[in-house]
Amino acid sequence: MQFSEIEKRVYTLIVKSGSKGVLQRELTTLLGIDSRKGSRVAKSLEKKGLIIRKPVLYKGRWTYQLIAKKKVVAIPKGAIYDCPCFLCKFIDKCAPGLERSPTKCNMLTEWLLSLDD
Ligand code: SF4
Repeated sequence: MQFSEIEKRVYTLIVKSGSKGVLQRELTTLLGIDSRKGSRVAKSLEKKGLIIRKPVLYKGRWTYQLIAKKKVVAIPKGAIYDCPCFLCKFIDKCAPGLERSPTKCNMLTEWLLSLDD
């Protein structure tokens, strides 16, 4: 997937904003881009399946709340040592697209979810 520099900046901002997201109209003040460009970039990120654009009424005007589909998981200091991958017998055979993959591993998913406690 290819990204322009402005798409990277906007996506990074949206991801960092977490579940509350960013209002599309805020892109102008937060990143200094005009509203037409902000709209174009947001639509492009939505088309790439990276964000959700949810219509919201803000101060009497319609705009979009931009929310990342992926969550950022903050790994507490030291917790990385408990990552199941380090002791996993499949580590050499695990990669995206293979039978064993971090994207479909229950052990890894459970460990990541335990960090959210
Ligand atoms: S993602 Fe799962 S299968 Fe792959 S190395 Fe880590 S624990 Fe093992």
